[in-house]
Amino acid sequence: MTNILILGAGYTGIAAAIRVATRTRRHGGKVTLVSAAPRFTERLRLHQTAAGERLRDHAIADIIAGTGIDLVLGRVTALDPARHEVVVNGGRVIGYDKLIYALGTVTDLSTPGVAEHAYAYDDHDQAVRLARRLGELDRGTVVVAGGGLTGVESATELAEAHPNLRVVLLSRGRPGSMMGEQARAYVDKAMARLGIQVRRGADVVKVLPDAVELSDGELIDSDATLWTAGTRGLPLAAEAGLTVDEQERIVVDSALRSVSHPDVYAVGDAAAVRQPYGVMHGTCQGGIPTGLHAADALADGLLGRRVKAFRFGYVHQPLSLGRKDAVIQFTHPDDTPRRWYLTGRWAIAYKETVSSSPLPTYRLLKRGLVPVGLFRLTAGLK
Ligand SMILES: Cc1cc2nc3c(=O)[nH]c(=O)nc-3n(C[C@H](O)[C@H](O)[C@H](O)COP(=O)(O)OP(=O)(O)OC[C@H]3O[C@@H](n4cnc5c(N)ncnc54)[C@H](O)[C@@H]3O)c2cc1C
Repeated sequence: MTNILILGAGYTGIAAAIRVATRTRRHGGKVTLVSAAPRFTERLRLHQTAAGERLRDHAIADIIAGTGIDLVLGRVTALDPARHEVVVNGGRVIGYDKLIYALGTVTDLSTPGVAEHAYAYDDHDQAVRLARRLGELDRGTVVVAGGGLTGVESATELAEAHPNLRVVLLSRGRPGSMMGEQARAYVDKAMARLGIQVRRGADVVKVLPDAVELSDGELIDSDATLWTAGTRGLPLAAEAGLTVDEQERIVVDSALRSVSHPDVYAVGDAAAVRQPYGVMHGTCQGGIPTGLHAADALADGLLGRRVKAFRFGYVHQPLSLGRKDAVIQFTHPDDTPRRWYLTGRWAIAYKETVSSSPLPTYRLLKRGLVPVGLFRLTAGLK
């Protein structure tokens, strides 16, 4: 019997767990999944939660039902790759033969005041706390720090849900700078329509209880500050002696095994996965294929089959602009924008399909099938 332990029941951990369970169950694989919470967090929709939307609850036990996976509820507090052990909740020790590390990332707290005074998307509860805070305000200012796609999605969602509040988006560069010119212009218009005040060239040096301080000393009043300006891996991996990059993501080889500890696979946001165009950045789009590949590499290794190198190319940057608008930028495999983009009704439907796709994907995986779209994302590049 081979004990396969998966840490983290987010998008990629669940995909990896189901895939490796279906591939190894007839060959002595015993799969255990450690989850911090019984409920699946739809991270792709946390900005909707922050805006006050009540999402459907999905129990992890239901998602993996019928797969034979053992679910352990608890927080991973330490890893010992030399002894092949993991500690949960500071006490329970779980041994493994092979480990898939899928613990995602957490907000980068290096800017003073972020930990104490800002809201972030580290888990569902934080988004709910922000929603509660905004619900208490009759008027006032919400500052969203970070002009990446998460910052833009959040600013538009909050501005649409709370027209009584002033929403300020602080961005070092142009918001949504990774998109093509026409898609960016569309984003700019949508933000103007929703009354969002965009401050480009804003470098936040401190978050205060009731303001945000910029590098030139300017203070911007804030009744609630949402921080979307950077994430990093959990300290656990580096503390355990695994090789990590400057963002504390586990550095992996082409089979997605840790370069320092080959019995540990790392996937999703937690992994630094190098491709010909550079190191992949954290998306569900790329994360689920890493989870499936690690599961297949692990199973192929156990069955004595050839392990293939992981290849991935991006296809899109899907961006909601509140519930009534969206823009989809189609991309080259290296994530640079193509000429094509989609807006309005079709873009809303597209984005909704993307956000709701993981759950049907898990159902297919349970039947041993890989959805065609996901298959193409990786197989087309091999
Ligand atoms: C608002 C928002 C919108 C987004 N929109 C998109 C989008 O449209 N398209 C896209 O591709 N990507 C999008 N992303 C990015 C996407 O959500 C992430 O890339 C994806 O969630 C990565 O999956 P993961 O499994 O690696 O990590 P996660 O989904 O974060 O899962 C990690 C899991 O590990 C658990 N965990 C953490 N620490 C511990 C511990 N110590 N012990 C036990 N469990 C632990 C967490 O609770 C979580 O369940 C968005 C992100 C945000 C925040």
